[in-house]
Amino acid sequence: MDRYRIRPGKKFKLDEFSPDETGDFEGKKQKGIEKFETFRSEIDKLQEVMYSENKHRLLIVFQAMDGGGKDGTIRAVFDGVNPQGVKVASFKTPSAEELSHDYLWRIHAKTPKKGEIVIFNRSHYEDVLVVRVHNLVPKDVWKKRYQQINNFEKQLAEEGTTILKFFLHISLDEQKERFMERLDVPEKNWKFNAGDLEERKLWSEYMKAFEEAIAKTSTEWAPWYVVPANRNWFRNMVVSSVIAETMKSLKMEYPKPDIDVDLMKKLLADS
Ligand code: ATP
Ligand code: MG
Repeated sequence: MDRYRIRPGKKFKLDEFSPDETGDFEGKKQKGIEKFETFRSEIDKLQEVMYSENKHRLLIVFQAMDGGGKDGTIRAVFDGVNPQGVKVASFKTPSAEELSHDYLWRIHAKTPKKGEIVIFNRSHYEDVLVVRVHNLVPKDVWKKRYQQINNFEKQLAEEGTTILKFFLHISLDEQKERFMERLDVPEKNWKFNAGDLEERKLWSEYMKAFEEAIAKTSTEWAPWYVVPANRNWFRNMVVSSVIAETMKSLKMEYPKPDIDVDLMKKLLADS
């Protein structure tokens, strides 16, 4: 899955990444789904250990265009985890209160504590994406944010937070199909906003903003993965693989019991 990881310092062109690609799994959807199931159950088990160990923090950022599959990915990948130790934070248009603080204020407040996985559905990256595309702040303000974000994420990492960032990359055509489905299926109508059509017109502006954001903020301590996301099964497989591998690399362990288990057993049997 390394090929989807953006290396810091290397030239990065978004149009060199195809949203359609399925890597080594071309024509092997069933195999991809099986792999995904394996990674997913690994994540479930690793999360148990993470929660019990109460040592590491894991922050997972999802960004995508509308219809990119953020919700679907989160639902699929974290299907079996213990909800005690996993939280989702969704970042919508900032409230007046949030806007009266700096843009990282609401973000920092939601970062994970020890033993916890926090999933960001949208994030501080909106402050260099939608904010840039719509000129919500002047250019000289958002330009400085890449460095600020790197510093912020570095501080989190140095304090023990593992950070993974996923851009779910769909095509303009795929978005149209997904929007059409949202309009065709009554149960999905609620997912469609009239504003989505306006944003769609700004597709190439958004791609430019994503490209620069990813190029400037994929770091050793907080890497970006550009995930081909036109096929849900492949997207789920890539995301779950990166998360499972990363969690494995933390070498987590269940805490050692601070009780004498044999003695407790004996006392319990006699009770
Ligand atoms: P769905 O994919 O289901 O539509 P969503 O994440 O798009 O879910 P919405 O309520 O439709 O949720 O949209 C949230 C909106 O909030 C997005 O348009 C996003 O760009 C906007 N937003 C998030 N953060 C900021 C920010 N910092 N400044 C301005 N707008 C923001
Ligand atoms: Mg939306």
